[in-house]
Amino acid sequence: ESRAYGRSVAEVFAEVAEAIAAAEDELGRLDAVAGDGDHGRGMLRGVRAAAEAARGTVDGGGGVASVLGAAGDAWAARAGGTSGVLWGAALRSAGEQLGDERSPLGTAEVRAAVWAAIETVQGLGGAEPGDKTLLDALMPFHDALDTAAGSGTPLGAAWQQAAEVADRAADATAGLRPRIGRARPLAERSVGTPDPGAVSLALCLRTVATAFER
Ligand code: ADP
Ligand code: MG
Ligand code: MG
Repeated sequence: ESRAYGRSVAEVFAEVAEAIAAAEDELGRLDAVAGDGDHGRGMLRGVRAAAEAARGTVDGGGGVASVLGAAGDAWAARAGGTSGVLWGAALRSAGEQLGDERSPLGTAEVRAAVWAAIETVQGLGGAEPGDKTLLDALMPFHDALDTAAGSGTPLGAAWQQAAEVADRAADATAGLRPRIGRARPLAERSVGTPDPGAVSLALCLRTVATAFER
């Protein structure tokens, strides 16, 4: 059963890679406003490598933790850039929190895994909420999952609600000034444009949400 879970996780990675491919140019444009313009390309390289690693790990009999760990390592190795390192480590941490044995997963387990990812991102990158990074979408996503867990909302519905929250939060980063990362020197230029890492994260979360609809 845990293997079946690993398999669906690997399939979702492939769908996320397709969504990022469709958004590659737009993510690059967002990153070019105050950053170096490589975010679409980096995300695509990372998520494609992750999808391939996930597939290989499932075929080797791995569960969710193994799949997410291998996917994260591949993402970090192949994406290049800050977001790739953070995404890679975040996926590995989330997987370790979930473990290979615990399935099916519920809202509370997934919330805890998202929290582990947040701690890893903050530990590596030192960003705080409001610094205009992907954390400004990931934290509201976590908080929405937390609320849903508290009211007993099943995982599929909880993820969908939280992904919508993350989407709105990513849009709202347009009003922020970057206080960390490559966009910081051109912070003023960035005002009015959402953070590329927050936008791509929200897109990934929404794509995963569609997988829960099936
Ligand atoms: P790079 O900035 O190295 O070119 P990318 O363009 O792929 O990497 O990613 C940029 C995104 O990474 C930003 O939009 C932001 O969301 C995220 N980011 C950058 N620095 C940090 C950090 N210290 N903590 C969290 N996220 C960060
Ligand atoms: Mg960049
Ligand atoms: Mg770069």
